[in-house]
Amino acid sequence: MPDYYRHTLANGKSVMEVAPTIQWGYLIYLTVFRVCQYFGAKEECQYCDINHNWRQHKAAGRPYTGVKPVDEVLEALAIIDRYDTAGTSHAYTLTGGSVTSKVDGLEEADFYGRYAKAIEERFPGRWIGKVVAQALPRADVQRFRDYGVQIYHPNYEVWDKRLFELYCPGKERYVGREEWHRRILESAEVFGPRNVIPNFVAGIEMAEPFGFTTVDEAIESTTEGLQYFMSRGILPASPPGVRNRPPRSAAPTRRARRWSTTSGCWRRTARRWRPTAFPPRPGTARPAPATRSSR
Ligand code: SF4
Repeated sequence: MPDYYRHTLANGKSVMEVAPTIQWGYLIYLTVFRVCQYFGAKEECQYCDINHNWRQHKAAGRPYTGVKPVDEVLEALAIIDRYDTAGTSHAYTLTGGSVTSKVDGLEEADFYGRYAKAIEERFPGRWIGKVVAQALPRADVQRFRDYGVQIYHPNYEVWDKRLFELYCPGKERYVGREEWHRRILESAEVFGPRNVIPNFVAGIEMAEPFGFTTVDEAIESTTEGLQYFMSRGILPASPPGVRNRPPRSAAPTRRARRWSTTSGCWRRTARRWRPTAFPPRPGTARPAPATRSSR
């Protein structure tokens, strides 16, 4: 456990609650908006539990911090900065639900951007700032950059048109898949292609009951999406398992098949466009060595 997890903020909250670290301490994960304005069955992404968590907490009468105060985030980061003497933490990610109207009177770019601005003013250059947000119009993307964000994750979720419409009905309705993709490409003109890293949700292309029923179809579709971005110099995020093998015990299962399917086509497609297209990216942790239990 990192030393900074032993400390609390003045209000008694733990650092882990406000600013947990992942990727072996490399990345501080700041989920600053814990609700999504794509709300309800007709808007929420079907694989996402953010609003469901909120509903469960409300139903149980438990407190739920929807918006993390900027001051709290800064206080937690000050503790990390002080006690992370080995300099293990290198980046922070600002993330949370989509903002389709306003939160605290702010649109999405300004809402998430205000955290980046405050962090960069207080700890200039200490961490690489990243944001996971919607694929926004160019002017909003520029605002992220101006606030000090260095890496932009406008996730494309799943490539197949039918599955995107089914799994991401809010994004389809408000923005539309083609416009979503166009904005991802456009954002590379603001951030530079290597600093735009769209994630996709590995595995959902074969999720029942709507997903592909054969591995070949899944590979074909996922590869098409990877080609689309990689051929334009944009490297989608490594899906889980790209660098690791599935556990031996899971080898015969459908889950392992999906895992290796996605990993395989990501690797093959990346190999086709590398090494000239993709120099090393900032803000990404190196994978930990495989342990006995992960082999
Ligand atoms: S937009 Fe993001 S936060 Fe909102 S439902 Fe979809 S995946 Fe979840």
